[in-house]
Amino acid sequence: MSTAAAESDIAVQVTDLHKSFGPVEVLRGIDLKVRRGEVVCIIGPSGSGKSTLLRCVNVLEEPTAGTVVVDGVELTDPDVDIDAARRKIGMVFQSFNLFSHLNVMNNLTVAQRKVLKRSREDAEKTGLANLERVGLAGRENAMPAQLSGGQQQRVAIARALSMDPDVMLFDEPTSALDPELVGDVLGVMRRLADEGMTMLVVTHEMQFAREVADKVLFMDAGVVVEEGPPEQVIGKPREERTRTFLSRVL
Ligand code: ADP
Ligand code: MG
Repeated sequence: MSTAAAESDIAVQVTDLHKSFGPVEVLRGIDLKVRRGEVVCIIGPSGSGKSTLLRCVNVLEEPTAGTVVVDGVELTDPDVDIDAARRKIGMVFQSFNLFSHLNVMNNLTVAQRKVLKRSREDAEKTGLANLERVGLAGRENAMPAQLSGGQQQRVAIARALSMDPDVMLFDEPTSALDPELVGDVLGVMRRLADEGMTMLVVTHEMQFAREVADKVLFMDAGVVVEEGPPEQVIGKPREERTRTFLSRVL
């Protein structure tokens, strides 16, 4: 394979990433590669740096050292147009962050119109298609407060998808949900994975990681302790730290 072809297969490449907050080094040399169409799940204890890593991937946090390349564009290059590059990356957080004063349709269209300069008609068409994709067709006039947490999170996913991202980042998207609402959100994510979406997912849902992930990374104290296919990392972990963590969450 030529170098160009090999590179184009890679959606996200993080190399020797470090991040400190003041004197505290939270990420201590992370390497990560996500190929196009791959689902990579990141697991690990609270405080291990999972959210900081995701936030560095779309440069919501500025890395202290190392490089982040998304779709062949180095986001850590100071000369790069970060806003343009970041549009290729969708992000879904634990707290759904919908605009509470806007109905579902306006939540779906506001960034499309302001950032992508789409017409109202185009933005609404895209919004409706993505609302259907997350199983919420017909709810476009609802206000966020009228929806369950699971429905709000699915709207947040539809909103991210409406920007036509090449990569979706999920940071514990089901952790704030009542248990009975978790399945619907995971179902939407599973469908996205089946459609070939490139996804980087921080999650405590081991069953989801086992069934959907192509690769699992176990992080602890700012490093990747172990990585590999889920049947290895979750099924037959090699490292003691991974085993200890899994014994607590499984
Ligand atoms: P995780 O998502 O794995 O729970 P985080 O990435 O949120 O871990 O946090 C890793 C560490 O970095 C924690 O000790 C946390 O307190 C610290 N941290 C995260 N964000 C900041 C910040 N903005 N300022 C200072 N410390 C932070
Ligand atoms: Mg976190």
